[in-house]
Amino acid sequence: MTETVDREAIRARARASRLATCKYWRGALAQPPCGAGVDLVARVGPRRMAGWALRIPCCDAAAPVFACERKCVPTPEEDEARQRAIGEMLALLPAVMTAIPSDKSITHGEVPCPKCGGPVRWERSPVNGHLRGGCAAGCVSFIQ
Ligand SMILES: [Zn+2]
Repeated sequence: MTETVDREAIRARARASRLATCKYWRGALAQPPCGAGVDLVARVGPRRMAGWALRIPCCDAAAPVFACERKCVPTPEEDEARQRAIGEMLALLPAVMTAIPSDKSITHGEVPCPKCGGPVRWERSPVNGHLRGGCAAGCVSFIQ
């Protein structure tokens, strides 16, 4: 059976969600307060509460518990600029990942940034081999 994926509809939903999400939202796992100084746990309750994400005003919940006076959503132009910047950063990753030695016994190092030529410092977890790192100038960062 062939499954049809409407990529445009998925993109439109994701864009609508981004445009409804506060610039100060730092994610559900971030410690309060948010970037605007609002303590969501104090105002909404513990995050382990069922449906917590539907109760906060930060994203696109239909009926949040309170209307945040500090909510500030991106303009369509800001969203487009951010998406473009993310795309540019993602385009750098294959070159960075290829430059990092595949030898798992090497646990850290530096490779040149494909954008600015500066150092991309990286480290490999001795536990699971995952990589993380970033360019000192901020061109690219990753957690794998
Ligand atoms: Zn760089």
